[in-house]
Amino acid sequence: MNIIFLGAPGAGKGTQAENISEKLNIPNISTGVILREAINEKTSMGLKAKDYMDKGALVPDAIVISIIKSRLTKPDCENGFILDGFPRTVPQAEYLEESGVVIDLIVDIHVPDDKIIERMSGRRVCPMCGATYHIIYKPSHRGNICGRCESRLIIRDDDKPEVVLSRLETYHKQTEPLKDFYGKRNVLKTVIGQEEVEDTSRLTYEVIQNFNK
Ligand code: AMP
Repeated sequence: MNIIFLGAPGAGKGTQAENISEKLNIPNISTGVILREAINEKTSMGLKAKDYMDKGALVPDAIVISIIKSRLTKPDCENGFILDGFPRTVPQAEYLEESGVVIDLIVDIHVPDDKIIERMSGRRVCPMCGATYHIIYKPSHRGNICGRCESRLIIRDDDKPEVVLSRLETYHKQTEPLKDFYGKRNVLKTVIGQEEVEDTSRLTYEVIQNFNK
């Protein structure tokens, strides 16, 4: 099963994508994680992407499309995959369609802007393994240390308040039109993001199970 998680930055799509990836035993491919790895490794792609990401803008389509193109050819994608954070523009979605990648289901996690702002201010990430936490909703059991790889957690540059507002604006302008794009193809399901992560997870899983019936 090939699934896309859609939603505003901070809506919790990354957390849900990780959960479903474990449940269905298919890889979770996050362009954001891949780009942050490239930045950490100071590759030329990372250096190009960083300026856009720091401003809360989208990285150019050509860069993210080339990431996805090579990632989807890996053997672990043969039995299905999850895309978290791709596509984020209509041309990216058109790329998938034109290259014959079949998407079975788009799960749109909907959370209003005021909630998003509250959530993003509490988000913490592990700079080493990419695990994500929230100081209230999903704390690491080791406080400010990653429960998975024991590195010190950080606030992403693009989770800082001034950048969050610009990321939300980018989302509404460039990514939200995808709801219409996929709505017309009858593959879009919306899950209303809940206060508790477990409740959103339950609703997300229900949507996926209903699809499989
Ligand atoms: P994320 O971790 O998914 O919130 O992504 C972090 C940042 O990476 C975004 O704000 C964008 O700057 C960049 N990014 C990730 N995925 C994409 C994409 N599909 N298209 C363009 N930029 C992306």
